[in-house]
Amino acid sequence: MAKNQSGSIFNTKVTIKYDKEKIIKLSSEMFSEDLCIQCGRCCMIHVYTTDEKIDPEIVYCNHLDVETKRCKIYKNRFNKEKECLSMLEAILTSALPKDCPYVKNYPSYEEPWFYGLLRGKNLK
Ligand code: SF4
Ligand code: SF4
Repeated sequence: MAKNQSGSIFNTKVTIKYDKEKIIKLSSEMFSEDLCIQCGRCCMIHVYTTDEKIDPEIVYCNHLDVETKRCKIYKNRFNKEKECLSMLEAILTSALPKDCPYVKNYPSYEEPWFYGLLRGKNLK
C-alpha cells in the first residue's frame, strides 16, 4: 500500500546557525534529565501512515533500543549521532510530544502532527 503521509522530527522550517557544543552545554544546565520518563517518542525519525485501519509505521533512530526505549549511546550521543537534539533544540524545533514532561506545562507548545495519531497506541 502506498505511503501517503510522513513526518520527521529532524525537519525545521528555517536554518539557524549556532554553536552546537554551547547549546548542548546550556541545555544540560537548563533541563534536568530526571524529568524524562523514557518513552522514546522523541527518538522517532519518521512516522508513516498508510491506511486508516492500519497502525502507522514508525522508524526509530538506529541507536534506540526499541524494547527498553533507552538510547544505546546516551552518554556519547552528541558525538556519535549528529542528528541527535539537545533538549533545548528539541523544544525549539517542536520535536517533542505535547505531554512530554519538558513541555507539557507550556500552552503555546505545538507538537508535530504524528504524536496525536500515535497517542493511546502501544508503540513498538
Ligand atoms: S518524549 Fe520526553 S519523556 Fe519521552 S523520551 Fe523524549 S524527552 Fe523523555
Ligand atoms: S542518539 Fe539516542 S537520544 Fe539521540 S535520537 Fe538516537 S536514540 Fe534518541
